[in-house]
Amino acid sequence: MPDARDDRTTALAQLAADAAGCTRCDLYRRATQTVFGEGPVGAALLLVGEQPGDREDVDGHPFVGPAGGLLDAALADAGVNPGDAYVTNAVKHFKWEPRGKRRIHKRPSVTEIQACHVWLEEEIRLVRPRVAVCLGATAARAVLGRPTTISSARGQILDGPEGLATVVTVHPSAVLRARDGDRAAMRRGLVADLALARQAAG
Ligand code: SF4
Repeated sequence: MPDARDDRTTALAQLAADAAGCTRCDLYRRATQTVFGEGPVGAALLLVGEQPGDREDVDGHPFVGPAGGLLDAALADAGVNPGDAYVTNAVKHFKWEPRGKRRIHKRPSVTEIQACHVWLEEEIRLVRPRVAVCLGATAARAVLGRPTTISSARGQILDGPEGLATVVTVHPSAVLRARDGDRAAMRRGLVADLALARQAAG
């Protein structure tokens, strides 16, 4: 007999199918496809990034590019099995601008974050995580609903939507972009924040 978790898994799959046809903002026009969240219903941690990158846009899955590889390794170092977490983005389509033959990431606007919030809100409602982890300022803006700087918010358990415990940290792509001399310290900070989230999840 199906239990409530099966019902939520079915509802989440339907939500992803609905989001595949989303036209709530203009970002769908130039992206390949909607990249919806993935992971188990009931995941203790729900990780939110900014938006899919070039590789995710083509593959149709979140965090499959270099930043995803770094995130998986950081999760493992923090004692979290990456497959146990639900991963998604604040904005579900890749926003980019051309530079020569390359597509360069462009930060989504507040209007686009707000337009896409309906999907994130439903993901949180159906997954029912114990802790949300915001990877970067755009994710923090989307989850907390207010402008948030990482430096002032990290290292604490914040009160998120509906009282959801929320941790803010850097986006793994910021670690990848860091100068050689800064990268190791940034990665340690990311791992420490993920470990804080794991402890808060109990
Ligand atoms: S970015 Fe979000 S709101 Fe905009 S079209 Fe894509 S799924 Fe819809």
